[in-house]
Amino acid sequence: MKVKGKLKCSICGKTYDKPLQRCGCGEPVEFELFEGEPYIGKSVWERFWDFWPLEPALDFSLGEGDTPLVKSRLGDEFGIKLYLKNETVNPTWSFKDRGTFLAMSYALKAGYKTVGTVSTGNMAASVSAYATRFGLKAKILVSESAGDEKLKAVSVYGGEVIRVHGDYGRLYFESLKLGERLGVYFMNSDNPLRIEGYKSIAFEIAEEISPDYILIPTSSGGLFRGVAKGFIELYKSGLIEGLPKLIAVQAEGCSPICMAFREGREKVERFENPRTIAKAIANPYPPSGNALLKLLREFGWGCVSVSDDEIRKAQERLAREGLFVQPASATGIAALEKLNLPEGAKVVSVLTGSGLKVLGDVPKRDIKECSLERLTECF
Ligand SMILES: *Cc1c(COP(=O)(O)O)cnc(C)c1O
Repeated sequence: MKVKGKLKCSICGKTYDKPLQRCGCGEPVEFELFEGEPYIGKSVWERFWDFWPLEPALDFSLGEGDTPLVKSRLGDEFGIKLYLKNETVNPTWSFKDRGTFLAMSYALKAGYKTVGTVSTGNMAASVSAYATRFGLKAKILVSESAGDEKLKAVSVYGGEVIRVHGDYGRLYFESLKLGERLGVYFMNSDNPLRIEGYKSIAFEIAEEISPDYILIPTSSGGLFRGVAKGFIELYKSGLIEGLPKLIAVQAEGCSPICMAFREGREKVERFENPRTIAKAIANPYPPSGNALLKLLREFGWGCVSVSDDEIRKAQERLAREGLFVQPASATGIAALEKLNLPEGAKVVSVLTGSGLKVLGDVPKRDIKECSLERLTECF
């Protein structure tokens, strides 16, 4: 199965002709930059047709992407123009579907019968759903801490869920080895086709506004790298006049990338004893950590971490505006308090996933009880 463009290591720069997941040096590979022009089309896949390494399998799309960019009232408070990229409306309620769709298109065309991923939450559900849609089998490897309740949203699609007891960080690399041996295509957090799919977020934003800042909740670094590559390709193609400033946002309780960045290191170190309510961004040893640090240095971008209390407050603020996101997805708004952005700046916060998936953390509010007969008095 041929793909367009070579793969290049994000750190050492070595190039490869054949599709692979990681460079011999251990770092992630990515497709070289694509250039092109936009077309008129219904989906983002069609409008940015020149920018994908392979033809997206549109017949199997579940309608991922093309999400609303919502103007937020909260901008007034910070003296900025704030927009919310609402990824909670994707088919499995997170942006992961964009990457899964493109990676699944590849798996199908390359003749794989089984796909896999390593995840506990949103990516597991996304891969399980799209595998069914594409007529492929799914093997979902989850950590031992993944609770039964959460896994219902994964197994409902029919994917096989395997709870793996052992070091979760190592599972990422073991799964790639296993996949190669058994002919199973693993589409983990920073898989190169996943990164390509995440570019669509940048394309859609650029169709509507010219942002100055993008706030990106960050765990493995896959989403950040995708959004970055999207804007860089638009710039290289002459379709935008400058690059926005990208800010990676992490939870204080698990912030290996921000920590390395602050200390001026080129490599991330494993974050010991991660603890945060933002479970979806709690990867203690991010596989794209070093690649992300390189991007932050090269472009003068930033990394900000926020506390659980700040995350809770931001989640509630978004809910009061009508948008219910999970804790990980509220971190961008929490970061606004710390960033002191210039007056009038156009800022996009990516709302990565739905709050309905993490109901356990949501505080219960008082509910009035009332008999039908006394309804008028209760009002
Ligand atoms: C996966 C995920 C992220 C972070 O994405 P990475 O690519 O791992 O950095 C952020 N928010 C939510 C809700 C996610 O599911």
